[in-house]
Amino acid sequence: MSATIIDGKAFAATVRAQVAEHVALLKADHGLTPGLAVVLVGEDPASEVYVRSKGKQTTEVGMNSYEHKLPADTSEADLLALIFQLNADPAVNGILVQLPLPDHLDSDLVINAIDPAKDVDGFHISNVGLLGTGQKSMVPCTPLGCLMMLRAQLGSLSGLNAVVVGRSNIVGKPMAQLLLGDSCTVTIAHSRTKDLAEVCRGADILVAAVGRPEMIPGDWIKPGATVIDVGINRIERDGKKTLVGDVAFASAAAVAGAITPVPGGVGPMTIACLLANTLTATCRANGLAEPQGLTA
Ligand code: NDP
Repeated sequence: MSATIIDGKAFAATVRAQVAEHVALLKADHGLTPGLAVVLVGEDPASEVYVRSKGKQTTEVGMNSYEHKLPADTSEADLLALIFQLNADPAVNGILVQLPLPDHLDSDLVINAIDPAKDVDGFHISNVGLLGTGQKSMVPCTPLGCLMMLRAQLGSLSGLNAVVVGRSNIVGKPMAQLLLGDSCTVTIAHSRTKDLAEVCRGADILVAAVGRPEMIPGDWIKPGATVIDVGINRIERDGKKTLVGDVAFASAAAVAGAITPVPGGVGPMTIACLLANTLTATCRANGLAEPQGLTA
């Protein structure tokens, strides 16, 4: 068997096009332009790349992008003051604080200072609780992107066995909640799971969010399963730097029914879903119908 490759780059382009279409309608019909504020503290090069890319894609779909770059030694009080100002600003519909923050800042405190209705990363404790209780929330972008790809690939997920490897707050746990919301039978595996290979072999849907290069080989995968590889690992191979996922792609693709590649799978969907969340937040803030297919 040779798996269908789920093209996240193309899927993300479709999501962005849908968002752009809705943004144009919001402008034409309601005079509204969604605004996304991104806050970056310090000069972490990887974070700077992400923030630039987010800003560019935000303006490309017709939204306003507000970048706030603060020095690495910014005090918690000053950062909180900026967040309160953004919470109160009607032009700002979404607020994202780029993580990780410098060590002297308390990430939980900062994230929980964001107005939950503008928390487009879905990390605020209120949104975590709403998702966990099956209520309308802002959903973390990476798991939302995975869910969209799974629904597009499989249609109904109801009754399928889903295994999520990884239990982080930003990927593993919300992913498991979303799959449960779509009526999968969900197992969350982690570093203490016994016989992980056997657990994975029971999965109709396998989501890998571990951060260990090519840890999951093809013989852990049920024939025909759908494999979503969230991992982004930078390794050196044959003297060249390269990106690989948590799944050994070649051996997995020989067994799976469908699989996301790395790069070009889950990665591009994350920013597309950030834009979708900003659009959703704008619609909710203005009492307008939410866009179909862009939320959980
Ligand atoms: P974390 O480090 O926060 O979590 C990793 C999880 O993997 C933990 O729950 C850990 O278990 C589990 N784990 C570690 N080793 C093993 C093992 N040997 N067997 C089973 N489980 C194990 O990572 P994140 O969730 O933040 O990210 C995971 C990966 O996804 C990374 O590669 C990251 O770069 C990538 N990522 C990609 C994104 C994208 O846009 N595509 C967005 C976010 C992340 P335990 O809890 O027991 O320690």
